[in-house]
Amino acid sequence: MTTATWTTEPAVRKGPGPFLAVRDLTVDFSTEDGVVHAVDNLSFDLEKGTTLGIVGESGSGKSVTNLTILGLHNPESTKVQGEIWLEDQELVSASRGTMERLRGNRIAMIFQDPLTALSPYHTVGRQIAEVYRRHKGASKREARDRAIEMLRRVGIPRPEMRVDDYPHHFSGGMRQRAMIAMALVCDPDLLIADEPTTALDVTVQAQILDLLKDLQQQFGTSIILITHDLGVVANTAHDVLVMYAGRAVERGTVREVLREPRHPYTWGLLSSMPSLSSPLDVPLVPVRGTPPSLLDPPSGCPFHPRCDFVDLVGREFCVGERPALTPERGHGDACHLTPAQKQEILAERSAGTLAAAAAERKPGDEADGGEQP
Ligand code: SF4
Repeated sequence: MTTATWTTEPAVRKGPGPFLAVRDLTVDFSTEDGVVHAVDNLSFDLEKGTTLGIVGESGSGKSVTNLTILGLHNPESTKVQGEIWLEDQELVSASRGTMERLRGNRIAMIFQDPLTALSPYHTVGRQIAEVYRRHKGASKREARDRAIEMLRRVGIPRPEMRVDDYPHHFSGGMRQRAMIAMALVCDPDLLIADEPTTALDVTVQAQILDLLKDLQQQFGTSIILITHDLGVVANTAHDVLVMYAGRAVERGTVREVLREPRHPYTWGLLSSMPSLSSPLDVPLVPVRGTPPSLLDPPSGCPFHPRCDFVDLVGREFCVGERPALTPERGHGDACHLTPAQKQEILAERSAGTLAAAAAERKPGDEADGGEQP
């Protein structure tokens, strides 16, 4: 069994950097079946007040990455390597006490299913107030007033009355709003939203995404949005990180990744996404095959068992050599295809058209300018 790489000396960042900087993060954890290589050498940045969408299928490592940022992995069975900087605080080497102080205060999380994340035994107001009391040392009266204020901010009608309701008195959309109120009650700098709208119907989904954008503008919060839905990213995020088998395979601004996708896996995600503007007789094209087991990830490029372009590159390269994410900054991808080959394939597959359809869903068309959502 492996252990987390806790150190006793606090790490010190050399010079200024982005608000959140993840550097060479590798996360392995032990299971009965063997060691799962959940995250492999992952690096990304998040700037203050912006939203990064992390996209990928189940098992791509996106949730494990964010649980590691929160320090919620099991230190007994997990080996974490690399660095995670939240401004001048390094999180991988931080003590348990430091992480407990940061969680709910500077870093907060919205979970996929509010019904299981909220306790059924306590009122919604009490659960929000407890977080505020614990981190801010507020009195019961102050914390209750703050809970009412937060319920009002997230659009719960008559919050003075609803503060004493239990979660089962709320609809699904209201429960997710209550979760957001609880996450934001201490004005966190970083909000991690893990599939925050998956359990909701489409109209409520749009309301919740709009709410997150409004709250980001009010509070200046930085957001990591984990999703498998590129449409959600198109509507909400500034930057996108596409993950596959624990690795980053493409990153860039929303405009770059949705309008000029470069990686075959991103093409596959876009081709499998329905669009209102697509002709009805044009079938969706799913990514063939299934995600690989992270107990024994494929050699070379992990996407090679599902990729249509292995023979174009040369099997020995795709199976034998791991492609690096290049260039180091800006729009990058991890694939051995040449830029000219990517351009040609993209034109043939009309991925640009599908991407444009994704961007059509954006009110205000943020994808065009990379502006604030
Ligand atoms: Fe496909 Fe090869 Fe590119 Fe991997 S490196 S995505 S297998 S073409």
